[in-house]
Amino acid sequence: MALKVCKFGGTSMADGNVMNRVKRIIESDDDRRLVVVSAPGKRYSDDIKVTDTLYKCHSELESTGSCGQTFSVIRRRFTGIVKELGIDLDIEYVLNETERRINEEKSVDFTASRGEYLCARVMAKLLDAKFIDAEEVIFFNENGTLDGEKSYAAICKAVEGELRCVIPGFYGCGADGKVKTFSRGGSDISGSVAARAVNASLYENWTDVSGFYVCDPRIVSTPKVIKSLSYKELRELSYMGASVLHSESIFPVRKANIPILIKNTFRPEDDGTLIQPSVYYKPSGRVITGIAGKKDFTVIFIEKSLMNSEIGFIRKVLSVLERYNIPIEHIPSGIDTMSLVIESSRLKNGVLENILQGIKEAVEPDVMRVTEDIALIATVGHGMSSSIGTSARLFKAMKEANINVKMIDQGSSELNIIVGVKNDECEKCINAIYREFFR
Ligand code: ADP
Ligand code: ASP
Ligand code: MG
Repeated sequence: MALKVCKFGGTSMADGNVMNRVKRIIESDDDRRLVVVSAPGKRYSDDIKVTDTLYKCHSELESTGSCGQTFSVIRRRFTGIVKELGIDLDIEYVLNETERRINEEKSVDFTASRGEYLCARVMAKLLDAKFIDAEEVIFFNENGTLDGEKSYAAICKAVEGELRCVIPGFYGCGADGKVKTFSRGGSDISGSVAARAVNASLYENWTDVSGFYVCDPRIVSTPKVIKSLSYKELRELSYMGASVLHSESIFPVRKANIPILIKNTFRPEDDGTLIQPSVYYKPSGRVITGIAGKKDFTVIFIEKSLMNSEIGFIRKVLSVLERYNIPIEHIPSGIDTMSLVIESSRLKNGVLENILQGIKEAVEPDVMRVTEDIALIATVGHGMSSSIGTSARLFKAMKEANINVKMIDQGSSELNIIVGVKNDECEKCINAIYREFFR
């Protein structure tokens, strides 16, 4: 029998009413046997996500020794949900145990993970399914990366012979035996790990939009939905800010060629977006697939005559960054120039000054300049490599919108063109590129 893994995001878990909707979706397909859930998200625009409240619980615990006051918000939320659903779950007991463990463990990851834990307990009861604690089936290595093989084996064993199971997303068990979370939005990764473990026919990711849009719907109003895209395009777009799917969620499914389908819990009849393994990718005829943007980068520009013929120049520059453990996003270069594009958050507390000093000592540049508050905008698509004049159209669109381009980097994969603009021109730039290629 085919087996589908379905992950439901925060808004799909927001209250009892939506959870009942999710139950209907799951029960309408017998293949939907492994369910991964996030913590309840926002019910209305200025509501607070359960995970954010839990991070607040941890701050309260750190400053006062107990999380009680903030935990009462979590208590009310889950008691309300269980009452609304009318399920037979002793939520008082589960909440008391959870609060006791939060106060005892004093760990930020443990506290943050409890939204998913509680939500999965509720959903398992609602679906009359087996609850599998992620702590017992998802494992991390010493260096914090996923221990895939150990996790896949444990998940397989836990689901064996079960009709339907629910696993909380977002967390697992660290190498020290303690609860550890993925980065924010990480339930998408948990879903992917589960899909890979059971060799699912499909990984369904249910959220609050009808698929992967060409660009962020909060920036461009009603952008077109992308019908299908490749893993590679997804990786580029999600890494560059298309937050609908966590950028690391393709890795577990990629090796097993499991497609991902983005679906809307609130409009299940909509087709959604199919993300396909690159091996199955067929040219769609379109020039670009999507546009995404991310703010707050710093560009370090370095100029030195005859840089190109100086053996080891780039290595010397990069070794300074390695010394400070700073990852580099892009390195656009010319004959006598190179730039380093780095996330600004990595350069706080004097790190930038130390790096500049280090580069000065290592290569004695003629000129070195720093530009802060840069946004990177990625225009992505397999179609770009075979169509002439794409960059000309892109830059014309930016010129017409009066946007000053601070940096250009065309990825060697010919899958993307990345431009750097001032942070406050990011939205304008995405709109301009969208208009040029899609309207
Ligand atoms: P979930 O809680 O279901 O995991 P997220 O909030 O993480 O949902 O992701 C869905 C949101 O991603 C959408 O509501 C939308 O605002 C945002 N988003 C950003 N870029 C895109 C995009 N290109 N296409 C669709 N949604 C996007
Ligand atoms: N609840 C977690 C977060 O808010 C994980 C997730 O939603 O995927 O980041
Ligand atoms: Mg998400």
